[in-house]
Amino acid sequence: MKDLLNHRELFQLMQILRESQRIVVTAHRGPDGDAVGSSLAWAAYLKGLGKKVDVILPTPFPDFLRWMPGAHIIRFHLNHEAEAAATLKEANLICCLDFNTLSRLQEMEGAMKQTKARRIIIDHHPDPDQDGVEMVVSFPKMSSTCEIVFRLIHQLGGFEGMTAAAATCLYTGMMTDTGGFTYNSADPEIYEIIALLLTKGIDKDKIYRNVFHVFSTDRIRLTGYVLYEKLQFFAKNKAAVFTLTREEMKRFHFIRGDAEGLVNMPLQVKGMKLSISLREDTERDVVRVSLRSVDDFPCNRMAEEFFNGGGHLNASGGELPFPLEEAEKTAQRAIEAYQHLL
Ligand code: 5GP
Ligand code: MN
Repeated sequence: MKDLLNHRELFQLMQILRESQRIVVTAHRGPDGDAVGSSLAWAAYLKGLGKKVDVILPTPFPDFLRWMPGAHIIRFHLNHEAEAAATLKEANLICCLDFNTLSRLQEMEGAMKQTKARRIIIDHHPDPDQDGVEMVVSFPKMSSTCEIVFRLIHQLGGFEGMTAAAATCLYTGMMTDTGGFTYNSADPEIYEIIALLLTKGIDKDKIYRNVFHVFSTDRIRLTGYVLYEKLQFFAKNKAAVFTLTREEMKRFHFIRGDAEGLVNMPLQVKGMKLSISLREDTERDVVRVSLRSVDDFPCNRMAEEFFNGGGHLNASGGELPFPLEEAEKTAQRAIEAYQHLL
């Protein structure tokens, strides 16, 4: 396996870790499998070095990630603002995983800006915001932050000490960020990493079921409802849009995570290149936007230009501070503007 860091970078990282005793590991709001998995595995590695480590995420993760080994140690800024702010203040080092700009911390951004702690970024999103950051470990071509964390631990000599629990977390993030290794996962070394993780005794089939086959009856009915009643097709069936209101979510007893993966489903239509989901946020008065595409259609450019967001080429997101009907019009305008790429 190729080394991730050059000698100078490796030395710099080792030095930062050596000089830090109290470390906070954090990731983006609305944490997904990659955010949770990379945070837990990196925290476990740091604990193995004898550090005092806290994992603080801005908002809770969906129920279908609750089984992840070690997930109980995670604390959420949303429910315990003062406590989280105090922990951040005491830290010497904050490791920011799986996000490239502080705005993705939402309400935690303020607390973060008030700390004097050194900060490092470990991430695979393009164009990390380097302001006030001491070291940036950024590899936008990689499948996931979990892949980067694996490579880091491996290069730092921590593979031998890796537990099955940490290996499970890393596999989970690599799997979820690549749709079960169906996209963004063509680098042969990914499968070397999986082979190494399997030697730790992970149960990859069970991990898959734990994440993807745990729908409630309400969630599968919601899926059916959206596909049957709500899906609209545009640009000669090359683009699809659906909306989801709070009212509808209530009807299907929506819980966090129930819309996960829904935006990918329209891409199962032959020739479909772009899928957009517009969902009223359950906590704030904004519309959460998710975009998914295939081939070289640049979701991230569309997200930046039309939806106050960004992300990866084939998976991006953003949000709009106005009502769903307006958001729908914005999505239609975006599709028109990008018609030539569909
Ligand atoms: P999702 O659709 O799963 O919420 O997000 C997919 C990807 O889009 C994320 O991995 C992240 O890269 C990006 N993303 C989602 N929401 C935002 C946002 O509000 N701002 C930015 N810059 N990127 C986002
Ligand atoms: Mn990720």
